[in-house]
Amino acid sequence: MQRSVPNASFTKKAGVWHVSFGVHVERSSVAWNAKPGCGVDFGVACSAFVSDEDEPRLMAPSLTEGEKRRLLGLERRKARQISYANKDNQGRYSKRLRRTTNEIAKLKARQAARRLDFTHKLTTDLAKNHGYVGREDLAVKAMTAGAKGTGEDPGTNVAAKAGLNRGILDNIPGERARQLAYKATWYGSADIAVPAPGTSQTCPECHERDPLSREGCGRLFACVHCGYEGHADKVASIEIDRRAGELLARIVVEALVIAGGHPVNSTGRGSRKVTTSQSPRAEGASVNHPQGHGPTASAAA
Ligand SMILES: [Zn+2]
Repeated sequence: MQRSVPNASFTKKAGVWHVSFGVHVERSSVAWNAKPGCGVDFGVACSAFVSDEDEPRLMAPSLTEGEKRRLLGLERRKARQISYANKDNQGRYSKRLRRTTNEIAKLKARQAARRLDFTHKLTTDLAKNHGYVGREDLAVKAMTAGAKGTGEDPGTNVAAKAGLNRGILDNIPGERARQLAYKATWYGSADIAVPAPGTSQTCPECHERDPLSREGCGRLFACVHCGYEGHADKVASIEIDRRAGELLARIVVEALVIAGGHPVNSTGRGSRKVTTSQSPRAEGASVNHPQGHGPTASAAA
């Protein structure tokens, strides 16, 4: 592994200076880690359910109780200071208001850093310990749209605002997907996106997909066909794993068929070199290969 440090940059976020070093790391391509795969259901409530685990992974609260109280106090102070500015100060914002906004931004930046830390540990662990990681292919909406120019956050300049919005990006699906894609290439895993519809409505036992098995808005899945009951996110993660496995099998078989009838055995002798570059026929799912720079295959699930 070769390393060099070509640059360093200094940025100021929420009044705190950060230094980033650009490190160029040459990694040789990693062989498949040959571990069992998994499916992951990412919840909106800062959690993830992994198909081979029994408990969801929950993100620890990103602010301590003290910090939450302080944030609440600051938000109230800000509201008071804004109404003072509007009523008694001809709409001019005071230095104190700017200070308050800055304090709020600092707390939020800290919160964002902790969330990002959770996401990093999770994606590293997933890629390191699984031969593939199946996840839902969710279209990531432009969550930061409207971040510019709403003008309801006086006292913070555009750059500081952009910083905050970057903070929001720390645990959204797009960031997890981005991390999984490049970490798969580091740890010999494959990042597999499968179609999302119905994952939490499909029974892991009898494989019937039925919205009635998800009556109510709780987290309980109760199969109306076979009676299986379980945590809806766990159910979803199992279905995601199943779809990912099916997709992989299809890609491999297609590649073998294209490569032409040589027998394959478990020692690898006589096997064909499997490449997936010829299978992007249908849409709906995609695989990021361990080598990263390789072709992206897709197939319908
Ligand atoms: Zn069932």
